[in-house]
Amino acid sequence: MSYNTHPKWLDLHHRAAVVDIHAHPALKAVLFQRTLIRRDRRIWPFFWPPNLRTSFPALQAGGVDVLLSAIYAPEKPLIRDIPLLKVLRWVPFSYVRRMWRMLVEPPYVQVANWLLDDLENRLEAYARESASSSEQRAVKLARSLDELEGMLAQGAASPIAFVHSLEGGHCLQGPEDTEQEIVGNLEHFFTRGVAALTLMHFYPNALGMPVFPYPAYVLPLLPPRRLSRLMEAIDLAQGLTPIGRSVVQRMTELGMLIDVSHCTPAARRDVYQIVGQSGKSSLVVATHVGAYALNPSPYNLQDWEIRWIANHGGVIGVIFMNYWLVPYQTALGLDAIAATMAHFVQAAGGSTEHIAIGSDFDGFTDPPDDLKDASELPRLTERLFAEHASPSRRKYTPDDLENILGRNALRVLREGWGRRSAS
Ligand SMILES: [Zn+2]
Repeated sequence: MSYNTHPKWLDLHHRAAVVDIHAHPALKAVLFQRTLIRRDRRIWPFFWPPNLRTSFPALQAGGVDVLLSAIYAPEKPLIRDIPLLKVLRWVPFSYVRRMWRMLVEPPYVQVANWLLDDLENRLEAYARESASSSEQRAVKLARSLDELEGMLAQGAASPIAFVHSLEGGHCLQGPEDTEQEIVGNLEHFFTRGVAALTLMHFYPNALGMPVFPYPAYVLPLLPPRRLSRLMEAIDLAQGLTPIGRSVVQRMTELGMLIDVSHCTPAARRDVYQIVGQSGKSSLVVATHVGAYALNPSPYNLQDWEIRWIANHGGVIGVIFMNYWLVPYQTALGLDAIAATMAHFVQAAGGSTEHIAIGSDFDGFTDPPDDLKDASELPRLTERLFAEHASPSRRKYTPDDLENILGRNALRVLREGWGRRSAS
């Protein structure tokens, strides 16, 4: 490693459990037929879709111990709205045809299951290949809390643990699209080992209403008529549907982490109300967001919500994408991430026990130039450690840094995830 500054922060980074609560290794692996086993020789700092930022070697280099790996079934209106994607249907390559058949044509629930299968196959293949290697850290799926604890207990020799999550409540929707089917599919995914569900994504789904999804620079890709129709469909005053309320209620009973990222402020309020009434804690998370006070987008959490989540034992993952963190253009992101974390601390009355990392790497995001992939995560620790040394900024103790890097996220998995053993 090329870091040659004061090594204290690097020791701390490697000693700490590092958890990323939102990234998409499966997405690009499938779409671009990429192997997760090899690391990209060159990672571009800008939005470059084929770059793989969470390959196994990148995760290992960044000291990542646990990854909440998000599965996303492409939303059908997305393909309808972006003409560039529609063209793919007519591309003669057999693998593009296969992708279309597997990812676009079947009902969402079938696509989500296929993507989970695909990732599990990749993890098993890697386990066979890396078994004899002393340099490669193993990567394993944890289908339950017991399995996760078993891995963490191995200390320095522990494998990197993948934990399944789903992005978008549409992933629960099958051919019937009824409440019974949707709640049944939720239970199926819980039993499969899915620990978290992001309720919304880009388009309104059976569970409720999302905020407007696209960063401004994507808008020219959309035909104006489609764009205006989408803008009309997004109603910030709408929250969860009755089906959405049933799903959230069932999640509190099963013990599944309820991710409010992409929800409208009204839908988030509905979640807080249902979970508040359930009396359960450590269930509500916002896996990849910023702070409304720093960037007033309805996507971001307001201060009262930050306090609510902190008071109810949840965590908030800071997204590694400037567009959502700050209302101005900048290429470097460590400043914005550190400022957002400092705000989360302040809004919750000084505690660092509700902050996490939610990089959204490989989710077709535009990562900061100074934090381009998982291997560069030690830079975040270096940066927060420097805040600790600076008289004018927020001071983080080593304990605070361990909280942020992963201890909080692990606490939420331990307290919130109801699937204890895989039997
Ligand atoms: Zn997302």
